[in-house]
Amino acid sequence: MTLHIPFDNTYAALPPVFYTKQAPVPVKAPELLAYNAALGEELGITAGEQAELAEVFAGNRVPEGAAPLAQLYAGHQFGNYNPQLGDGRAILLGETVGADGARRDIQLKGSGRTPYSRGGDGRAWLGPVLREYVVSEAMHALGIPTTRALAAVTTGELVWREQGGLPGAVLTRVASSHLRVGTFQIFAARGETAALRQLTDYAIQRHYPEAEGPMGLLRAVRDRQSELIAAWMSVGFIHGVMNTDNSSISGETIDYGPCAFMDVYHPSTVFSSIDRMGRYAYSNQPDIAVWNLAQLATALIQQAEDPQAMVEEATEIVHAMPALTEAAWLRRFGAKIGIAEATREDMGLITDLMQRMAAGQADFTNTFRALVDTVSPDGGPARDEFLEPEAFDSWVSGWRARLEQEADPAAVMAAANPVYIPRNHRIEAMIEAAVAGEMAPFERLNTVLADPYTVQDGAEDLRRPPAESEIVTATFCGT
Ligand code: AMP
Ligand code: MG
Repeated sequence: MTLHIPFDNTYAALPPVFYTKQAPVPVKAPELLAYNAALGEELGITAGEQAELAEVFAGNRVPEGAAPLAQLYAGHQFGNYNPQLGDGRAILLGETVGADGARRDIQLKGSGRTPYSRGGDGRAWLGPVLREYVVSEAMHALGIPTTRALAAVTTGELVWREQGGLPGAVLTRVASSHLRVGTFQIFAARGETAALRQLTDYAIQRHYPEAEGPMGLLRAVRDRQSELIAAWMSVGFIHGVMNTDNSSISGETIDYGPCAFMDVYHPSTVFSSIDRMGRYAYSNQPDIAVWNLAQLATALIQQAEDPQAMVEEATEIVHAMPALTEAAWLRRFGAKIGIAEATREDMGLITDLMQRMAAGQADFTNTFRALVDTVSPDGGPARDEFLEPEAFDSWVSGWRARLEQEADPAAVMAAANPVYIPRNHRIEAMIEAAVAGEMAPFERLNTVLADPYTVQDGAEDLRRPPAESEIVTATFCGT
């Protein structure tokens, strides 16, 4: 059987202002580490031999029907506008339309230099490739919109980073599209209104066919993004680099760099080693999403004959975002404490618990999950998560009283509170093992994290927060 990918490319059919056509740069010795067969099937791919998969997903052979290109975009990085970014180490092979009718991009990341590499080597090393593989697939299993991982290969070449020479790798990423806020920004900033209009039409057609005009698009992106951020918050996820070039128009989580799930809950948690000001801290994420949406609004209005005339509507759309995120947050966190349809009156109960969690250094994931077994008066594992369990005890009576109005709070909580998340110290250990040629931890993480809401035999250790010596305080952007 030979590999067949049923490409149906639309981005490559747009005018060349949007990209540079270019094939991936071949590598020395491709070796397949992982192929996501289930996802491949969803995309309509017929898998071939291992060697063939390795060749194609390393970029050594461009499969039939592909129209490889590097996409152009710009973006605000940590608040500063960078007028030109683009795929500096990624190549879009093309798109497929799956059996579900969904059109998705297939992109190689770490595939060599492009005209947009800006001095970078165009490559990725094994660590971030496997981190993105595991974390994006875990995110999908958690039910949160995200790009997916189709394949990971090693290149047989070294990549040079601060740490020294590291094994090179390529990730094959699947996304609803790679359109970002920054894709709109570049054409708006350059005053290329024809391109901006064409991009807007393309995005509407591809993602939000019901949306009308640029303001309809803005509203649709806002709705998806507010749901996405609330979903991140609900599992303790910190993206780490919410730059506008990493903010997807489709509302998927994209670009897993220095991201992490929190262990101990604290709202100001930051992981990224380059985020020294805490701009992208856990609790700032809703505000940053609004800021990013404002950048999209600023870009989109440039296509109007009279941009001023669109300002009022755009402002109103952006200003409505915090309330939408809060409503989504309330729904999700209400469920996390067993309330099927939380109202504003429940807000205090939730925030009170979280303040106690922060003060009591409670593990985010384990505390919420333990609530499932704390519903009945004689159960109480959640209290053990707190430095001073009394801080939990004084919250519990009000909570139990509220739950008397609920039909099946334990079931609501079990569906909202995962047992397993990709804990950072496990990811680091998995990477270390993979660098040493040991792939079992990678396989095991993928297997357990594929079913995150179910307690699994023999996976108790994956629930454990890091020991003092295992705590990862920063994830590095040297990806
Ligand atoms: P990121 O932080 O991964 O979202 O990347 C920001 C920008 O830097 C994008 O334009 C990337 O394509 C580019 N970039 C990141 N790493 C590299 C690299 N090793 N070589 C070339 N470009 C890169
Ligand atoms: Mg990026």
